[in-house]
Amino acid sequence: MLIVPEREIADLMTRQAAFDAVERVFAAMASGDAYNFPVVREAIGHEDALYGFKGGFDRAGLTLGLKAGGYWPNNLEKRGLINHQSTVFLFDPDTGKPSAMVGGNLLTALRTAAASSVSIKHLARADAKVIGMIGAGHQAAFQLRAALEQRDFEKVIGWNYHPEMLPNIEKVANEAGVPFEAVELDGMTEADVIISITSAFAPSLMADHVSPGTHVACMGTDTKGKQEVEAALLAKAGVFTDEVAQSITIGEAQHAMAQGLIKEGDVAQLGAVINGTNPGRTSDDQITLFDGTGVGLQDLAVAASVVELAVQKGIAIEVDF
Ligand code: NAD
Repeated sequence: MLIVPEREIADLMTRQAAFDAVERVFAAMASGDAYNFPVVREAIGHEDALYGFKGGFDRAGLTLGLKAGGYWPNNLEKRGLINHQSTVFLFDPDTGKPSAMVGGNLLTALRTAAASSVSIKHLARADAKVIGMIGAGHQAAFQLRAALEQRDFEKVIGWNYHPEMLPNIEKVANEAGVPFEAVELDGMTEADVIISITSAFAPSLMADHVSPGTHVACMGTDTKGKQEVEAALLAKAGVFTDEVAQSITIGEAQHAMAQGLIKEGDVAQLGAVINGTNPGRTSDDQITLFDGTGVGLQDLAVAASVVELAVQKGIAIEVDF
């Protein structure tokens, strides 16, 4: 069995490798070659922790396994550790033997950023120039860094519920040499692409904050009750997702479904656009919306990719297990 520790991931994994892995597995999900197992998520009654498993099998990529982990809210204050903790375990699909154990913390941010980037590649207008960010926390910086590579963006605009956090994304824009401007929510009408990545339980982005032709990637809502955008926005958008079952139950589409504004059949898989079985954006005026809920197969895909890179560089630790 191979081990790739968390400390090695930053030097091994590239945004391009994460992008390729996620694009491939979304395509495999849409063609029926890959599927996610039911998610387990438990409040364990210790340290206020939420712990769970996300797993799946990709027959095309021959990737089988799970990500185990969750959120320990006291880690940082009590122990100087980050609150999100996860590890990916991969298994040989031919034998069931464990094949790799991989640090999953940084990979989670990279695979989540890769998902919105894949949506921008396939759904945003080719001439998109202004990207709007809603959110400025840990994930937001990864999201913006990856998204800036998808189009020739000339400007970043940003809004955050806690404005004092905006320098987190301004720094990313500066590093990429793209000007940054803080705006009010109604200033988002200037954006051609909007990424929303917050932990909100009430919408910030309203339908009239979004101009025709915009692509919106909603990346924060991954639990029942969370919400980032007004449900009415989904009713007027072409809605795409990583996995329909998650989108309508724990993703952004849960609210539009509950209000009867859309039906399950209105939500399409992004993988189908990648495979060419769904046309994706149908006009320059259409609003497209990607509901990125986060699936286990994304974690397995980037973990398998990083194991490959670790083997190539002679960094993977081999243990007799
Ligand atoms: P973080 O704590 O670093 O940042 C939270 C962000 O949400 C900040 O911008 C904060 O200002 C904003 N926020 C907090 N309360 C708000 C409110 N009431 N209204 C509007 N904005 C508010 O968290 P993070 O690590 O950046 O994660 C952000 C979200 O992304 C979380 O909800 C997390 O569960 C989710 N997430 C999703 C995926 C996925 O695959 N879809 C993967 C990882 C994380």
